[in-house]
Formats: sequence, C-alpha cells, structure tokens
Amino acid sequence: MTVHAQHGQPRKVMVEAQEVCKHYGPLEVLKGINLKVHQGEVVCIIGPSGSGKSTLLRCMNHLEHVNAGRLYVDGELVGYRQEAHKLYELKPSEVCLRRRDIGMVFQHFELFPHMTALENLCLAPTVVLKRARAEVEREALEMLQRVGLSDRAGYYPSQLSGGQQQRVAIARALTMNPKIMLFDEPTSALDPELVGEVLKVMRDLAASGMTMVVVTHEMGFAREVADRVVIMDGGRIIEDGPPADIFSNPRSERARTFLERLL
Ligand code: ADP
Ligand code: MG
Repeated sequence: MTVHAQHGQPRKVMVEAQEVCKHYGPLEVLKGINLKVHQGEVVCIIGPSGSGKSTLLRCMNHLEHVNAGRLYVDGELVGYRQEAHKLYELKPSEVCLRRRDIGMVFQHFELFPHMTALENLCLAPTVVLKRARAEVEREALEMLQRVGLSDRAGYYPSQLSGGQQQRVAIARALTMNPKIMLFDEPTSALDPELVGEVLKVMRDLAASGMTMVVVTHEMGFAREVADRVVIMDGGRIIEDGPPADIFSNPRSERARTFLERLL
C-alpha cells in the first residue's frame, strides 16, 4: 500500500480538478470533472473507451487546454500563471518548466527509437536540466536496475520486448524526479505474459510513496494498489472511492454494468 500521512498531518493536494470541461469542437469530452489526488495517493481511473480518461490525463500534463473549470497540479493552475489576482496564459517555456515535475507513461511506450535504453534515460536530464553527463549516466543505470533492466542499457527499443520497453519508459520518466506520475493504459499494448513485470514496477513505485494517477483496466492492480478507484463514463465521474467499496458496492447502475463486464 502507499505511504499515508501519519500523525494526522494534512496531505498536500497534488491534483485538483474543479468542474473541468473540455470539448473538441462540438464534442464535449469532459463535462465537469471534480477530482482530488493527495500526495502519495494512487488513484486508478477506469471506464469505457471514449469516456475521456486520456483527455483528463492529457489536461493534467499540459497536453490539452481546459475550456472551463479549473485544474491544479501541484498547487498551480494548469495553463496559467497567477500574479496579483490576475491570470496570464503560460508561455511555451513556462509550460516546459511545469511539465518537468510531471512524469507520463503512454500505452505505446513512446521511446526514442534511435537511442539505446540508457540514452533514452539520459536525454532529458542532460538536455533539459543541463546536468553533467557522467552523473546522469550513473543515476540512469541505477534507475534501469530499479526496473530490472541493468543488463539492457545498450539495447535499442526494437531489441526489447514490450514489457521491457515500458519499464524503460517508466525509468525514463523517473530520471526527472517527478512529483507525480501519470499512466495511460500502460499495459494495454502488452502481451498478457508481459503485463506482470510492468505492474510490479508500478507496485514498487507506489510503495515508494509516489503520487500516481493510473488509467488501467487491470482490476487486480486497482484492487490491491489503488487508494481510490474512479469510474468515468461519458465525460463524467460516476464513482470515486476505495476499491473495496467500488468493486463490491457500486452506487450507479452504469458502474455496475461496466464492472460486470470487466470482473
Ligand atoms: P478514453 O481515453 O476514455 O478512451 P479519450 O479521452 O481518448 O477517451 O477520448 C474521449 C473522446 O474524445 C472520444 O470520443 C475521442 O474520440 C475524442 N477525442 C479525443 N482526442 C481528440 C482530438 N484530439 N480531437 C477530437 N476528438 C478527440
Ligand atoms: Mg484512452
């Protein structure tokens, strides 16, 4: 389980969505999302295809603009800078700065194909943070070891299995020392026998206290690792609670129907 605040100290809110709306042209994709994720929490988002899960994660990572409502990540309003009660839209360079603290892992890994595993890990710390190569490499090798791939540092993505590629992608995100990790169906593109090795890395990460928002259909993972499970449907959150409650006693008929198909 994840690390919880002890001695009654309030935990920092890492993500807060207040009535977040997003549309693509006439298509309303997020219809007033309210969500809080505290530091150290693991929140799994499940829901039918097209319900807006990826869009919500992409908004958290500055990849999409929110059209209405407010979205805060790590206490800062996504897309805007606040100065003297006025809001200014962020410049691209400012967006880059904010995104440094947010790690994201995608369904299709998105590794740089012309770079080895080690080079994939070293790129952002050396280029974006301008850190010394030797030190970054040392850390990257440690990170590869953490995900069980110290013997694959010199391999290119095409020489790695899907499960190995995804573990490299997770290690790469971690090299930036993010405050939060977002996962968008990280195991959906994997052969079934490779899912476990990626979930194990995610489990270890959760146990280390990382704040994680995970879009997944791995119910076992959600049940064992998540502090909360959120069910989305049609651009809305229809359930939000501890996995034991959500899985055994969903409030809405829609959630029940969706879960029956998965479990
Ligand atoms: P999920 O991840 O839950 O499957 P998405 O957030 O990917 O759902 O998509 C929600 C809806 O938004 C879908 O109907 C999808 O087709 C639409 N959509 C997603 N991205 C775009 C885009 N860039 N332009 C137009 N429509 C989009
Ligand atoms: Mg999606």
